[in-house]
This record gives sequence, structure tokens and C-alpha cells, in this order.
Amino acid sequence: MGSTRNRRPWRILKGTKAEQRQGNRTNNLLLPALVCDFVSRVKINLRRFDLKLAHRWAIARSVQAGGSGGTDIYKVVFVELTDADGTTGIGEAAPSPRYEENADSAFVFLERVNPARLSFADVPGSMKYLDSIAPQNFAAKGAISIALFDGAARRAGKPIYAFLGLDFAERKHITSFSIGIDKPEVIRRKVLEAAPYPVLKLKVGGPDDKQNLAALRAVAKKKPVRVDANEGWKTKEDALRQIEWLAADGHVQFVEQPMPATTDPKDLIWLKNRSPLPIMADESYLSAKDIDCCAECYHAVNVKLVKAGGIAGAYEALQAARKAGLKTMIGCMIESSVLITAAAHLAELADHLDLDGNLLVTNDPYLGATAERGIISFAQAPDKTGLGVRAGFRC
Ligand SMILES: [Mg+2]
Repeated sequence: MGSTRNRRPWRILKGTKAEQRQGNRTNNLLLPALVCDFVSRVKINLRRFDLKLAHRWAIARSVQAGGSGGTDIYKVVFVELTDADGTTGIGEAAPSPRYEENADSAFVFLERVNPARLSFADVPGSMKYLDSIAPQNFAAKGAISIALFDGAARRAGKPIYAFLGLDFAERKHITSFSIGIDKPEVIRRKVLEAAPYPVLKLKVGGPDDKQNLAALRAVAKKKPVRVDANEGWKTKEDALRQIEWLAADGHVQFVEQPMPATTDPKDLIWLKNRSPLPIMADESYLSAKDIDCCAECYHAVNVKLVKAGGIAGAYEALQAARKAGLKTMIGCMIESSVLITAAAHLAELADHLDLDGNLLVTNDPYLGATAERGIISFAQAPDKTGLGVRAGFRC
């Protein structure tokens, strides 16, 4: 890793007094022309949106007895910031109830944001202001973070990755494609549909795990598979049994979050020392502050912008994990191309990518980084500076 990657260039940016003038906000994308603010330098628009899933989505904590459960839609909130000079920044909150956040709580938080306290020229100062409004609310803060970096990098005439001092190599970064918990016959169909993607991620923790892996293997005999238990196994002995079964497959790369994040670290260390496959923290690793425990208990971590509170938080979480000698993955929720593209800018800091949330929905309202055959690319991104995202549907 080059020394430039340890720098945090956004920290050197300073705001100006002019950019901190007081003002009001606008909160309705449907009526932007009707709201005119002559005082505020930055305007904020919020928009709720329901992402529609191509397949009903179930994971260990949402699957119900018999294998039913899950959801057909995922509620997100989009944020758009516009500066006085017309520079815009787009962000997205995809809150998860697992972290006691949802679209309503994110929207309420974002409505409290005074845009006069936000500045593309002072991203850290703007984020500090958000922390003064209320603790937690990481998805909502993450949305503002993405929008701020979008605007800041646009003003610098660079893509966000370059603005952060990172590179992005085309034809190098590959995302896995996730297969949610379902009945074996549906798993088979999903895996066939996912044929173009070279790596799969199978959700487990339901009643049909063994049949589901068998259904996957019936149509994808040797394809690399990552497994995500989403805290589904409640004892260390059960977790070890399940991981030993998965290791016997021969093509499982690692297992995400085998046990609850609340598990006694002694049990996780017991499991880490015996597991035949690397185990990766997801629900256990929200941000860099969790690194000490995760370095002891896991081989790898899954970093998500939604958990870490945005781009700077995710950058720090990735760097902390690398410094601790852990493997890293950048993951996602069910989310649009806004959040997925934001995460893709950090690809250089990750050993693995799991950036498929936008591939699992049918009504992504934005265009950004692409994932043809699983290869994350900015080559067709509609904008070469900032986030690289614009409104539009992929045909
Ligand atoms: Mg996970």
C-alpha cells in the first residue's frame, strides 16, 4: 500500500465564513422551483424511494419458520445538495433495522439538517456539525457524506477516488452476486440467472441451507461462493459444525458473521482458532472503533458506508482493518447506484467487493459504476468527476 493511501486529503480542506451563512432548507424534490432561499449557500432536497427487489429478499434474521418471510421492497432516502454556484452532490441513505435505523428515522434526521452548516469546501466540518445534531443515524449521515464528497470532488475536477488519493484500476475489481434465502428450486433459478457473475454469495441460516447449497451446486459446480450467516448460528459448536460442512464444499471462500455480534469474544476466538474457513465480521464491525475486538475474533471484516457513516468513515474502517492485518471486503445493503458507486470509489482498499445491492432491484433510479459480468467499472459512468452518478434508468 502506497503512502498516499494513508493521507486523508479531505481533512486539509477549510470552509469559509461566507460558506457558513445561515439559511433555510428545501426538502421536496417535487417542488424545487417553488422554494427559493436567498440566504443559504447550500440547498438540500430529500426524496424517499422504494427500491423494488427482483426476488423476495430473505436473510437469517428475516426468514420465518418454514422458510417464508423477507421483503419485496427496501426503503431508501436520497439527498441532493446544491451549492450557490450550482455544484450538486447526491447521496443515499439505505438504513437497516438491524442498526435501529429505518427510512423514517433517516428522513427525520435529515429534515433536522440546516444546509447552511454544510459546505463542499469543508467536508469534515460539515460532518462534525451532523454529529452535533444527534448520535448514531449513520445511514443518514452517510447520505450527506456521499453528497458532500460528490460536490467536493466535482469542484476539484476529480473522481472521488482520486480526490481521496486513491486509484481505481479497470478490469480488476469483481463483485459477488448475492443469493438470498429461499426454497431450493428458487435458489436454482436465481443461480442460473446469476450465471454472468463469477462469484456468488449465499445467504444461510434458514431451514434449507444444505438443500440450498446443493441446488446452487447443481447448476454452478465449482463457482467460488461466499457464505453469509447473518448471525444465524447461536452456539460456537453449531457454528463450527456448519463451517466444517461448508469447507467440505471445496469452493467456499469465507463465512460472514457466523454468530451474533453480541457473542462473548472468547467464543468467537474459540471459533476463529478452529474454523477451517476464514470468518469475516459484518454486524460486528460497524466502524474503525470496533477494530480491536474484530482483530482478535475474526480474519476479515466487511465495511459498509451505511454502517460507517459515509465515505470518510468507511475509508477509516478499511485502513484500520488493513493496519491490523485483516482482509477487507466492501459490502452493501439493498441500495441504488448512488451508494454502490460511492463504495466503488474505495475499491482499492478492499480485498473483496460485495457491491451488488443495485443489481438485485428492478427500479434503480440512478446510473453510475457498472458491474457487467461482475466487473466494477467507471468506464461508462455518466460523469467523470465526483461520484459519477446521474439520474436515469439502465435499459
Ligand atoms: Mg453480511
